[in-house]
Amino acid sequence: MGLMSATIIDGAALAEREKQSIHQRVNRLAECGRRPALTAVLVGSTPAGELYANRQRQACENVGIKYELRKLPSDTSPRAAAELLQSLTVDPAVTGIMLHLPLPPQLDATELQYKIDPVKDVEGVNPANIGYVVYGHTLIAPCTALAVIELIESTGVSLRGAEAVVVGASEIAGKPIALLLTQRLATVTLCHIETRDLKSHTRRADVLVVAAGKAGLIGADHVKAGAIVIDVGINRITLADGSKKTVGDVDFEAVREKAAYITPVPGGVGPMTVAMLLKNTLRSAELLERR
Ligand code: NAD
Repeated sequence: MGLMSATIIDGAALAEREKQSIHQRVNRLAECGRRPALTAVLVGSTPAGELYANRQRQACENVGIKYELRKLPSDTSPRAAAELLQSLTVDPAVTGIMLHLPLPPQLDATELQYKIDPVKDVEGVNPANIGYVVYGHTLIAPCTALAVIELIESTGVSLRGAEAVVVGASEIAGKPIALLLTQRLATVTLCHIETRDLKSHTRRADVLVVAAGKAGLIGADHVKAGAIVIDVGINRITLADGSKKTVGDVDFEAVREKAAYITPVPGGVGPMTVAMLLKNTLRSAELLERR
């Protein structure tokens, strides 16, 4: 370990702590007969989709959340998919709803996400929920963005007035991350594929969040000494010997010598995102209580 080596933010350990507190709050709701119940919709079964859904079931059941998977055939019509989401929205036994992506080509994700009751929208993907974040009345915020904020806040470093740079501007990751950072009063720069001279931006960052989906995009040169670096990227790469490995968008070994804090991949944003899905599911159930 070098003299200046960064503190590694242990997302897996933080997620575990988070889950313990979620479990306690779930138990309290369950005692009043209001156990949170998440229904996930999977259209068209793939091995990856099934694997992800199984892990999700395990994660829910570990904290006492009831989990149901509703599988639809891959040739499901837009109308049938919308009808299922609407029926879940009005079903009082269902407190949370999520739609697995990707969808088959005949189905439009955004259109279907609109059909999910904003209060039951545990992924925070209904446009209404993004809107509430913009207006400062957050109901349910997107999971990955929440995970990023919690990881930054775990360092104890304040976001207020900090230079925050986000690389990647997708609807699922970069844009919501930039929104939540703005809400916490950081000065935010949002970079994307058309950004000229990426390095000139990232080098100014006190907090650098990378969500581009490109292995090795961020090297030591891109990082200011003492920065907090949060790596959202998940990339499967093939090594020289033919074996496969999961890496982020940040050159971890190089950047850890320069940053003050860094998240690993795997074991950083990934497990925290799962914890935030559980936290949102709990929040949905609590919000429904007050309705
Ligand atoms: P996306 O492809 O939808 O968006 C990528 C964004 O990065 C775009 O805005 C694009 O302009 C930008 N970008 C791409 N290459 C760039 C470059 N060379 N320089 C600057 N900007 C560049 O991807 P996404 O769905 O937002 O996901 C991004 C990454 O984050 C992926 O690796 C994905 O697997 C990962 N991800 C992880 C989690 C998690 O929970 N850990 C959640 C969501 C996404």
